[in-house]
Amino acid sequence: MISIPKGTKDVLPADSRKWQYVEETAREVAALYGLKEIRTPVFEHTELFLRGVGDTTDIVTKEMYTFRDKGDRSITLKPEGTACVARAYIENGLSGGAQPVKMYYIIPAFRYERPQAGRLREFHQFGVEVFGAKGADADAEVIALADSLLKRLGLNVKLHINSIGCPACRATYNKALKEYFAPHLGELCADCRTRYEKNPLRLLDCKEEGCRKINLGAPVILDYLCPECRAHFEALKEYLGLAGIDYEIDPRIVRGLDYYTRTVFEFVSDDIGAQGTVCGGGRYDGLIEEIGGAPTPAVGFAAGIERLLLVMEATGAPIPEAKGPKVYLAGLDDGCRKKAFALAQELRAAGISAETDHMGRSVKAQFKYADKLGAEYVAVIGGNELAAGVMNVKRMADSVSETVPFASAAEYFAKK
Ligand code: ATP
Ligand code: MG
Repeated sequence: MISIPKGTKDVLPADSRKWQYVEETAREVAALYGLKEIRTPVFEHTELFLRGVGDTTDIVTKEMYTFRDKGDRSITLKPEGTACVARAYIENGLSGGAQPVKMYYIIPAFRYERPQAGRLREFHQFGVEVFGAKGADADAEVIALADSLLKRLGLNVKLHINSIGCPACRATYNKALKEYFAPHLGELCADCRTRYEKNPLRLLDCKEEGCRKINLGAPVILDYLCPECRAHFEALKEYLGLAGIDYEIDPRIVRGLDYYTRTVFEFVSDDIGAQGTVCGGGRYDGLIEEIGGAPTPAVGFAAGIERLLLVMEATGAPIPEAKGPKVYLAGLDDGCRKKAFALAQELRAAGISAETDHMGRSVKAQFKYADKLGAEYVAVIGGNELAAGVMNVKRMADSVSETVPFASAAEYFAKK
């Protein structure tokens, strides 16, 4: 028996409706905000993520699925979507069109992580990117989009916001961080000792208990923002107010990717334990330039679909049931089944969902099966009906029956 790789999951027919519901809702909300879908390849040149995600991040140092293809190129399965969309924006000249460019995507992403509830090696994201707008109103609109989606899905999650400044204010802040952490170096994990040297901001993103305790006393970036970054953060708060969105300021959010500037945010649920961040994002004004484009302001987020579903299940958020067929056509014997088979085709051609027996079951067993499928109507064809060119149609909800000629079957059900 060959089993599924660790950290991956099948979505079985019984569960796919939930996925479709989340994806459909995401597409609807994206359309309300004027976003269009962008699709990029599942794999990219590794270099894109080294530069676009940051070579001191956990993603790049530990989590990427990187391999050499048969042409000896270094290829990586996308660990996230933003760098890919930024590459496509530059490469396809979208920067030359009307700005801002507002895009969304639904993608699988791959990270070699320790699998646990809400943390997989292949997972799925709904992501949003707005390129070309520098004002905090764009940040607020992106946050509002995420908020609308989460509310539509019936989730009760908290918005946490922070600003991590620009390279200028971060330089001062990094100095303060290093001063704070210097006496604690011996107590930090090995990764954090590297972070201390290479990218002190990353220290605040450590998930190790010991490091987290030390982090609590660290200086707070909001105290180190330059006047422009401070004004941007104030404007963000004002626009969130205009959108009627509640938030908490959490100076400890730094996010897992290197490319963020100014606004960072997370939507967090208390209902699924440690992996409670269902959505994370922010502004990354340096990214597009970093990977070879013209300096372009950008803001976006990604929501983890598995985590959204976990919270929805944990909190009993309603998920609409999949509908059964409009009609189940039950036939008494082989001759009747053939008529049922042909009629099912006729109904489907008219846009009416129809099913019929493939198991050689008795009419009684076909009724039972039709009920299990959730069929709205069951049409029975027995010997007499076949001879008379009619079927006996029963509405399952109230057992009301009618005789319907084969010739008007499509017309009859089209009106139902
Ligand atoms: P975390 O801190 O939980 O590792 P992250 O900061 O690495 O998250 P992002 O890169 O911002 O996450 O991805 C956005 C969203 O994608 C997360 O908020 C989460 O919902 C989801 N996500 C990230 N990694 C995974 C994973 N390994 N399995 C399932 N969902 C994930
Ligand atoms: Mg992570």
